[in-house]
Amino acid sequence: MKSNFNIATLVRESVKNLKPYSSARDEYISDGSKMVFLDANENPFENGVNRYPDPYQRNLKAILSEQKGVSEQSILLGNGSDEVLDLIFRAFCEPNQDNVITLPPTYGMYKVLAGINAVENREVLLTADFEPDVPEILAVADENTKLLFICSPNNPTGNAFSDEHIKQLLESFRGLVVIDEAYIDFSQKKSWLNNLKDCPNLVVTQTLSKAYGMAGIRLGICYASEEIITVLNKIKPPYNVNQLTQQQAMGRILDQKAIQQEVSQILKERGALQQELGDLEFVKEVYPSDSNFVLVKVDHADKRYQELINKGVVVRNRSNQPLCGNTLRFTVGTPKENKKLIAILKQMK
Ligand SMILES: *Cc1c(COP(=O)(O)O)cnc(C)c1O
Repeated sequence: MKSNFNIATLVRESVKNLKPYSSARDEYISDGSKMVFLDANENPFENGVNRYPDPYQRNLKAILSEQKGVSEQSILLGNGSDEVLDLIFRAFCEPNQDNVITLPPTYGMYKVLAGINAVENREVLLTADFEPDVPEILAVADENTKLLFICSPNNPTGNAFSDEHIKQLLESFRGLVVIDEAYIDFSQKKSWLNNLKDCPNLVVTQTLSKAYGMAGIRLGICYASEEIITVLNKIKPPYNVNQLTQQQAMGRILDQKAIQQEVSQILKERGALQQELGDLEFVKEVYPSDSNFVLVKVDHADKRYQELINKGVVVRNRSNQPLCGNTLRFTVGTPKENKKLIAILKQMK
């Protein structure tokens, strides 16, 4: 169906014609031989970070490539997913001309990035059961619609979308389909990464900020066809992922056992938390979750939010989001933190 898909028709004219900046580390690529580096105006005295980092993060990508079964040329890394998403806007959306589609209630950054980049954001609400409204999405798209953002598992609703709905969109939407999988490690559902080969218009983003427990180092990951990654590489800042981040990330992703242990603990705690929340009088609904948080409908969200603050617990009030009136979003904490939360909630009248 997508056999005649042509990435060139989606790329901005200015990006197509761009000659990217060539850094010192681009022009001479170390093959490991002992060389004297007098090419980048660095301070020569070693302190661990006096040299510029690898602009293409080859060592880190080699590990990811092996773990995920995708080529290194299909991976782009950024300073958090937020940078990756911004690069996608800047590569494909002509300001004041193109548009994107987002599916509220969802992650707020897509809308902010659209605003920053002067790109129209067409919003198509999720259905009442928090699924994409496929016919409406396809009806709203036109020849200037470059991107469709699908957050699955979705923040703040917590659910992963049905495979069938996503498949329909991948087949019928004519721009790029960006599936944000920030929470995929908490879900029973398989990553869409496995479909990269069959879907030339698919972009999958992941992050080290959630299940991998490294929000502080800022590492976002983008997987897509080599053609798409080539375009993004052209416009990314040369040294967008710093040396310390590359080192810390490598150490962590090689320790899959520790990550899996933490994820299973979080999943166990999530189940217990959902149970306890469901027993509370002022809780009207506990929504299913494929993520590390639970969305809950309560009687008076503003009041409950403030009561929790007064007791020293900060949650997220999502009540101003469409379809989310009177909802609070609880991130799953440590067993001790969750116990404290439940004890406080049980005292509320
Ligand atoms: C937390 C989150 C991210 C992570 O963003 P980073 O910039 O990588 O920290 C991305 N997408 C969604 C939907 C999120 O909730």
